[in-house]
This record gives sequence, structure tokens and C-alpha cells, in this order.
Amino acid sequence: AITLSALTAWVREFGALIDTHKDELTQLDSAIGDADHGINMDRGMAAVLAALDGEEFPSNAALFKKIGMTLVSSVGGASGPLYGTFFLRFGAACGDAAEVDPEGFAKAMRAGLDGVVARGKAEAGDKTMYDALAPAVDALDDAIASGSELRAALRAAAGAAESGRDATTPMLARKGRASYLGERSVGHQDPGATSAALLMRAAASALG
Ligand code: ADP
Ligand code: MG
Ligand code: MG
Repeated sequence: AITLSALTAWVREFGALIDTHKDELTQLDSAIGDADHGINMDRGMAAVLAALDGEEFPSNAALFKKIGMTLVSSVGGASGPLYGTFFLRFGAACGDAAEVDPEGFAKAMRAGLDGVVARGKAEAGDKTMYDALAPAVDALDDAIASGSELRAALRAAAGAAESGRDATTPMLARKGRASYLGERSVGHQDPGATSAALLMRAAASALG
């Protein structure tokens, strides 16, 4: 099973990847948004890591409630409530134990994705974080259901997230600030899909 400390390591690794990629994320957002996605995510994840320092959490749900609430309250942009909801729903679906098995992890990722949709109403092809997260969750489900090892399943999910991220470049944005640009949003990789691919890469390296 995946322990609470492994889940914590995943979130820490995501924070580290956001920190090293913050300029790239902001650069992407400067092309089709307001040039703050890296700043938003780095502020949020720095607050999350500070909130986790020296704290003990009794359960998956408690850990991810703290993470989600911290993101919602520390990030001004659209990404704060979206990632915050992802983690809140993920944690609630993981439940009150202090570990989760691979099937439960895949289900919780699906619940997190459903939370992003409930919050932001994005559909496939709208050029958002959904376009990286949804194929990753599908790949994870398929791999776990077909009996793959967790490590292989997470690698498949991370690869699917990267393909999904890359596929946002030719898309016309239909949600968020980038949608205000209409046709001019075409030809740019979506910043939120890029950070979502980092979330999956962090899972593959910390949990695999
Ligand atoms: P803001 O647009 O408020 O400045 P950020 O720049 O931090 O916030 O985040 C922008 C990213 O949020 C986009 O690249 C996109 O992936 C994601 N996003 C925006 N609106 C939505 C939505 N309705 N559903 C899903 N993702 C969205
Ligand atoms: Mg922005
Ligand atoms: Mg903004």
C-alpha cells in the first residue's frame, strides 16, 4: 500500500518541481494569460510545504484537507481553487486510513479530477489542466485494472499527462483567461496542463 509518508513525499516532490519550473510556467502564462501561473503555483506550494513542516496528520483525508485548504486560501488565481479542490476530493476519497492501496489511489485521482470538473466545468479539448489530468487518470485506471505494478502504472500516467500537455498546443482555449484570446490562444502550450504534468511526474518519482 501507499503510506501517508509516501503521499507526503509526492506533494513535496510536486512543490520542488513547481519551484524549478516556475519561470517556465509563468512564461507559458505570459503568452495566453496574465503571466502568473508559476508565481501562483509556487506561492501555493511553498505555503503547503510550510504547513506540512513538523506536522503529523492522522489520515489521508486530514493531510489532503490541509493541502487543499492551503492552496485555496493562498493562491489568488484560478489554479488555486482548482488544485485545492483536486486535493480535497482526492483526500476525501482516500479516506480516514493512513495508507491507500493502488486501486484506492486510482479511484481517489478520479475523484480529484471530478472535483476539477465540478469546479471549473472544463471538457476535453478546452485547453486546460483537464487535458493533461484526464488522460493520466484514464491511463492509471487502465494500468491498475489490467494488473500492472504501481510503478509501471504511474509511469504510464505520467507519460499520458505529458502527451496530453503537448496536445494542448494546437487547441483553441474555451475556459479561463486564455479563452479571451480566441484564435490567438492557438499555438501555445497551456500553463495549467504543464503544471498538471508535473503533478503526475512527481507521483511517478515519489510513489513508484
Ligand atoms: P489565472 O488564470 O487566474 O491567472 P493561473 O494562471 O494560475 O490562474 O492558472 C491558469 C490555468 O488554470 C490555465 O492554464 C488552465 O489550465 C487552468 N484553468 C483555468 N480555468 C480553468 C477551468 N475552468 N477548468 C480547468 N482548468 C482551468
Ligand atoms: Mg494566470
Ligand atoms: Mg492571474
